Amino acid sequence: MLSTMQDVPLTVSRILHHGMTIHGASSHVTTWTGGPEPERRSFAEVGGRATRLANALRDELGVGADERVATLMWNNAEHVEAYLAIPSMGAILHTLNLRLPPEQLVWIVNHAADRVVLVNGSLLPLLAPLLPHLPTVEHVVVSGPGDRALLAGGPLADASTRVRVHEYEELIAGRPTTFDWPELDERTAAAMCYTSGTTGDPKGVVYSHRSIYLHSMQVNMTESMGLSDRDTTLIVVPQFHVNAWGLPHATFMTGVNMLMPDRFLQPGPLAEMIERERPTHAAAVPSIWQGLLAEVTARPRDLTSMARVTIGGSACPPSLMEAYDKLGVRLCHAWGMTETSPLGTMSNPPAGLTADEEWPYRITQGRFPAGVEARLAGPSGDFLPWDGESAGELEVRGPWIAGAYYGGAGGEPIKPEDKFSPDGWLRTGDVGVISPDGFLTLTDRAKDVIKSGGEWISSVELENALMAHPEVAEAAVVAVPDEKWGERPLATIVLRDGASPDYAALKEFLAGKIAKWQLPERWAVVPVVPKTSVGKFDKKVIRRQYADGELDVTRV
Ligand code: ADP
Repeated sequence: MLSTMQDVPLTVSRILHHGMTIHGASSHVTTWTGGPEPERRSFAEVGGRATRLANALRDELGVGADERVATLMWNNAEHVEAYLAIPSMGAILHTLNLRLPPEQLVWIVNHAADRVVLVNGSLLPLLAPLLPHLPTVEHVVVSGPGDRALLAGGPLADASTRVRVHEYEELIAGRPTTFDWPELDERTAAAMCYTSGTTGDPKGVVYSHRSIYLHSMQVNMTESMGLSDRDTTLIVVPQFHVNAWGLPHATFMTGVNMLMPDRFLQPGPLAEMIERERPTHAAAVPSIWQGLLAEVTARPRDLTSMARVTIGGSACPPSLMEAYDKLGVRLCHAWGMTETSPLGTMSNPPAGLTADEEWPYRITQGRFPAGVEARLAGPSGDFLPWDGESAGELEVRGPWIAGAYYGGAGGEPIKPEDKFSPDGWLRTGDVGVISPDGFLTLTDRAKDVIKSGGEWISSVELENALMAHPEVAEAAVVAVPDEKWGERPLATIVLRDGASPDYAALKEFLAGKIAKWQLPERWAVVPVVPKTSVGKFDKKVIRRQYADGELDVTRV
């Protein structure tokens, strides 16, 4: 028997319409400009401009259903407009990661066959030289400050017969502020994002209207980020990194004000933004919070407006959480990936606990929401109990979890065996344990775990313990080949200013917290830990540096 309920598709155009009407006058997107004043636009203005953009893309550029429209942009109001306009009109928003090496960007644009690229002027030095290698791109739409002359000649000369350049503001000016949004099947593609390739070739994840809508609702739930129209969220996590963790769509649903840093992502400007605009929430990866901590330690600033911060993308060291607790800022740990939209878990402790009792929950990756089912696959393929001890590979499924990757124009979706189980669950490549009450603790990525003499050593556990030492600013631990044990840990550390390495003392410091056989005997001080395009420790690079003899390794 079917229900008697209405069947209204869950579409991005509905999120757009809701935000620009119900929250139109009272909620704002504020973009940091680096000038004396930030730029503030109401949701009504942003929605109106998004509607004009959709009209321009259709009428002037001929964008039709299913066409990929790429963005190469920072976090700013124009990028939010693109987030709303492109899926609503039935096209597909394709966010490009501006920190990828040029050859990977070229590969991704060609694989997605993008026809239009919206670009910030400040990123033209990155885009212009690539255009001759992007045969599918016909239109480039430029917004914000930047040297347009880069597009006029030079590398574009070859491509100039093919590529038309538009000014964003001129393109949308005078267009209608209404659009007859198509009534789409909620399962059609709305947006796509390629994984950042930390562990191999980029793979395209294609989100549906339905997955975005449901994910936005989850982001807004009290047990997730729990924001309302009284909040302002500082969205540092880039819009090209898993849709800025779903925030631009989620906020348009509930009227949360957005504070967008544009290209001003350095600790100094971030501290200034927080002091002046007083956001109540923020979202970013641990390396951003490490940088900001160093900044406010050197030059104290008031961060207390930012009561809650969502932190994820890589493991949050407990010492970082403690440091921010002292500044009146509560870091809330979350786990997710491009394939999970990304919200997979969030560590809000259960009710009724004291601060001390909450702590062991806060340092986990968090609890699964109703929309995410989880299981742990053991080494022999059997599923392990949720006993807080049995470690296996995490597999998940749910309405905002990928079931395949984009197979290229005309191609079938691809389901690599190492990524999807035969019964369709996503194999995350993350190894961890789950407590009986559903809290996930990740011990490592399957590819980063150190396999020493048949036992596993968690690189993350060693890193967290090292980063709790007052003289250690950052620590990354990788597996290196060892004749006797197969693999052993190599600890690379960044020391705080003025500190000198005393490896024996560091080993002693670890000894109380980590089993003796797991302690590293290879140590190296490095000026910085190499980072991936989205700010994670790049362990591939560290392993290569070690193999090439580039590190000054001491054995202790
Ligand atoms: P990439 O796989 O290219 O790094 P993603 O941004 O999709 O790109 O990364 C997802 C991965 O990041 C997860 O599979 C996990 O290994 C790691 N990750 C994300 N959040 C956390 C977290 N809170 N703790 C530990 N690892 C995390």
